[in-house]
Amino acid sequence: MTLRVGGLTPLSTSDWPGMLAAVVFCQGCPWRCGYCHNPDLIPARGDNEIPWEDVLAFLRRRQGLLDGVVFSGGEPTAQVGLLDAMREVRALGFKIGLHTGGMYPQRLAAVLPLVDWVGLDVKAPFADYPRVTGVAGSGERAHAGLLEVLASGVAHEVRTTVHPALLADAEVVGLAHDLAARGVTHYVIQAFRSQGCQDAGLCRNATRERPLQDVGGELAGLFGEFSVRA
Ligand code: SF4
Repeated sequence: MTLRVGGLTPLSTSDWPGMLAAVVFCQGCPWRCGYCHNPDLIPARGDNEIPWEDVLAFLRRRQGLLDGVVFSGGEPTAQVGLLDAMREVRALGFKIGLHTGGMYPQRLAAVLPLVDWVGLDVKAPFADYPRVTGVAGSGERAHAGLLEVLASGVAHEVRTTVHPALLADAEVVGLAHDLAARGVTHYVIQAFRSQGCQDAGLCRNATRERPLQDVGGELAGLFGEFSVRA
C-alpha cells in the first residue's frame, strides 16, 4: 500500500518545534474548512503527486542530517497506507511527527505507537465543529481522536486556529478550559492567516476586536506549556 503525497518540504524548523524535519504533505482530506491553507491537498488525488518511492529515496539521502519526518496534509490518517509509510520511515532511523485533525480515530490509534509527537488540531468546541469543517459529525470524530492521543501518552501539541467569524473569544476560553480538564498539557492558539485561504469572506472579515495575545493571557495558567501564535 503506497502513500499519496501532494508535496514535500525538504527542511522545516517550524512544523515540529525543536526538530529539523522534512514534511510530507499527504494528499486528501474529508473536511472542508474555509480557512484551509492547503486547499490543493483536499482532493483525494492531486495534480502534482510525488511517488512514494521518490520520497523514500530523498529521505535516504538525508539520513543523519534530519531529526525526523512530519506527516502532514491534507489529512494523513485518511490514507490506509500511512502505517506502512511510517514503518518505512522509522526503519531509516527518523523520528516521526504527525499533524492530524483526529477524524479517523481507529487509524490514528493504529499509527500512534510509531509516532513520537502529534500536532492535533482542535478546531472548535466539539458540538460546533460543522461550523468550521462543513461536515456533520466531524466533532464526534475529532473528540474520539483527541481521546486516542491522550490515552497513548505520545507527546502532543493541541492547537486551535482562531478566526473571529468562526470562533468567538469566549468560545476559545471555554474550549481551553475543556481541553485542560481532559488532560491536554500543551496548547497553542494561532491566529487565522489568509495565506492560501480560498474563502473570500473569511479573508475579508478577519479583524479582531482585541488581540489574540489578550485572550491567551487568560489561558496560560491552564497548561504546562501554552503559547499564542499571533
Ligand atoms: S482538516 Fe486541515 S487539511 Fe482538511 S480542510 Fe481542514 S484545514 Fe484543510
